[in-house]
Amino acid sequence: MFCNQCEESSKGLACTVAGVCGKKPRVAALQDVLLHVVKDLSIYADAARKAGTSDAEVNYFTDEALFATGTNVNFDPQRLQGLINRGIQLIDRLQAQTIQSGANLAGATATYQSNAELPDLIQLGEDLGHVTNGAADVDIRSLQQVVVYGIKGVAAYAHHARLLGQEDEQIYEYIHRALAALADKDLELNEWLDLVLECGKVNLRVMELLDTANTTAFGHPTPTSVPLGHRAGRCILISGHDLQDLFRLLEQTEGKGIYVYTHGEMLPAHGYPELKKFKHFYGHYGTAWQNQKKEFAQFPGAILVTTNCIQQPQSSYADNIFTTGPVAWPGVEHVTNDDFGPVIARALALPGYESDKDRGQVMVGFAHQAVLGVADQIIEAVKKGDIRHFLLVGGCDGSRSGRNYYTELVEKTPADTVVLTLACGKFRFFDKQLGDIGGIPRLLDVGQCNDAYSAIQIAVALAQAFQCGVNDLPLSMILSWYEQKAVSILLTLLYLGIKDIRLGPTLPAFISPGVLEVLVKTYGLKPITTPEQDLADILG
Ligand code: SF4
Ligand code: SF4
Repeated sequence: MFCNQCEESSKGLACTVAGVCGKKPRVAALQDVLLHVVKDLSIYADAARKAGTSDAEVNYFTDEALFATGTNVNFDPQRLQGLINRGIQLIDRLQAQTIQSGANLAGATATYQSNAELPDLIQLGEDLGHVTNGAADVDIRSLQQVVVYGIKGVAAYAHHARLLGQEDEQIYEYIHRALAALADKDLELNEWLDLVLECGKVNLRVMELLDTANTTAFGHPTPTSVPLGHRAGRCILISGHDLQDLFRLLEQTEGKGIYVYTHGEMLPAHGYPELKKFKHFYGHYGTAWQNQKKEFAQFPGAILVTTNCIQQPQSSYADNIFTTGPVAWPGVEHVTNDDFGPVIARALALPGYESDKDRGQVMVGFAHQAVLGVADQIIEAVKKGDIRHFLLVGGCDGSRSGRNYYTELVEKTPADTVVLTLACGKFRFFDKQLGDIGGIPRLLDVGQCNDAYSAIQIAVALAQAFQCGVNDLPLSMILSWYEQKAVSILLTLLYLGIKDIRLGPTLPAFISPGVLEVLVKTYGLKPITTPEQDLADILG
């Protein structure tokens, strides 16, 4: 196997024996086949689109299949086999149409057998290898990997937005065109660089769609205090990104004597009016995805994992955990069609909490509408010198010890600075009491990682108010990354021309020295150093 798509790739290079995330070689091989299938399907889809047709089923399959190959999403060989076979059927269908259209179909590499057995598919994956294997030039291969991983992030957000009725043909057009380009051996370095930046542009659009989807369905987030303790009673823990799943779960648990708690990336859900109106949507439990083995083991109720970030379930809670949507783990019950009956039945069979417990609270809900609602107050505080600098400390959490950097950095920020945060990385400091500046909290939780869209809106509005560019604002970005959605967000920031981003805890293994040189020279991208040094450099 070869996989280098996340921050925890083995030895900072690639996982080649087994995944640090728990991915077995046979699962890696199946994901490789699936990526080749999506790439070949993209060649036909791109040709069909150029001939004037776009196939909705192909588009939807594309985002679902790409999402399934992301980090910590789908570890289930049977489900991956199902996706591969569906993709092959779609290739057959499009192949017939596009051959008739006389399109140029050079580059479709593999010959697929319909309804192949698992051992044959695993062998095929081992033979095909990584989807970027064909590129001999190390910098081109690096850029191809950036595009493929960025597209996986785009596909994940597109999937969420589509389920809430928001989609845009230009997203699928880009995905198919860029994946089809993997078969074009003549594409040069600059053309791959263009595709990299275009991925950032498309990701901005898809984050905007998801923002519209979430706020149309559930209202604009408002500042909300979220308890970290619990109430006596039966309980369900829900993790992941999917607000629609949470809404359906809240509807189905209403009046059943069950409290619903969030875990990980689901924390910002508490800020949405149409979700927080449910009285039994109580609080937040635990921290980020990498702590789930310990935290899930201590939760006395049922657990529902929506979208990504599943870790190998431990025997202590294997009977209590369920997956839905794109996430899957072999042996774990997968709930479909928004029917959370099995999760509810399990919660009612488990003891729940015996008594109430107060563990303090955190504030969420500082998305773009809430923050821009007090923009005058913020601008005035900057003009008076009460706010000296904004630090966007956002991104992923993970297991590496170097991530303590982010906790220490936030702890050391001076009292005249405001910290904007989003995504899982905030669990390193989300419960710190940083106080306020004239009533403006010093720690503002903007939301999930896709709410980078909100942070961008806030930055653009501030730049307009001060009649300057975003790079001229007293704003610094100190980001942490782990998986492919973070890659797509970084590409968006680069597409917007944002400079001097600090990135950690390590730089991506798939960035070649040549590509890194371009990123450093053009964008001033830099690795994090120490909290003291970086704060001194930022604040002068
Ligand atoms: S997703 Fe990350 S940890 Fe898992 S196999 Fe790939 S590089 Fe390794
Ligand atoms: S913050 Fe990072 S680890 Fe968490 S869901 Fe988003 S991309 Fe994944």
